[in-house]
Amino acid sequence: MDRPIVSDIDLKMMERCVELARTAGRHGEFPFASLVCNGEGIVSEALNRVDRDADVTRHAELVAVSEAQRVLGRNDLSDCTIYSTVEPCAMCSFPIRETRISRVVFALRSPLMGGFSKFGILQDARMSDVMPEFFGDPPEIVGGVLVREVEKAWRNCNPLVWAVIRYRGCFNGNPAGDACVHQHSSGRARRFNWRQIAHRIISKAPRRRGSSVEVPAFEGRPNSQAEQPSVVNARPGGGGD
Ligand SMILES: [Zn+2]
Repeated sequence: MDRPIVSDIDLKMMERCVELARTAGRHGEFPFASLVCNGEGIVSEALNRVDRDADVTRHAELVAVSEAQRVLGRNDLSDCTIYSTVEPCAMCSFPIRETRISRVVFALRSPLMGGFSKFGILQDARMSDVMPEFFGDPPEIVGGVLVREVEKAWRNCNPLVWAVIRYRGCFNGNPAGDACVHQHSSGRARRFNWRQIAHRIISKAPRRRGSSVEVPAFEGRPNSQAEQPSVVNARPGGGGD
């Protein structure tokens, strides 16, 4: 039997997310919260720490992903799901792909800043097709879970800020209140081997006389210029006598 789009575990984890978001609001942060879970177990949980740490990179998702890697002692989180009150932004979406997290579950969509709705990072298959050593397959995306609860947490945190956010269309929920899902069709396990990749590149490179591998010309430039190394930040007098 197929796994339901939103399981009881998903609902339980999102309820915990909403609880954390309310706590964030009480600590002067915006009500963003995130969990990284392995099955029924919570590996890490985080609030936004932007205001507390005076650091704009301390988004709840980044803090949770960082902590999950520390707790598990590995950077492959392919057996994990990340839960968030709001769709992860572009900055948070790259570490999700790099750690190979396989599911992303959230409440509110982020059409202005979202790594899924706006920038397409979470569903981009080309990254993992071309560089499977660094990026996992696009995760399953489940949005619209506990939308009303998360909206209420935002409204209670700061009604004016929430009104502006709504007016500008920064975040929104599924009007029907139902979860929506985006699944990547590949699902195949990837194997990679640096030796094989290097061999393929070398064997496909065109050869020329007197050189083992031809250096292609940059577009719009003669080949002789392309082969000249560029000098950046050279020290004065570094050319010698
Ligand atoms: Zn973010």
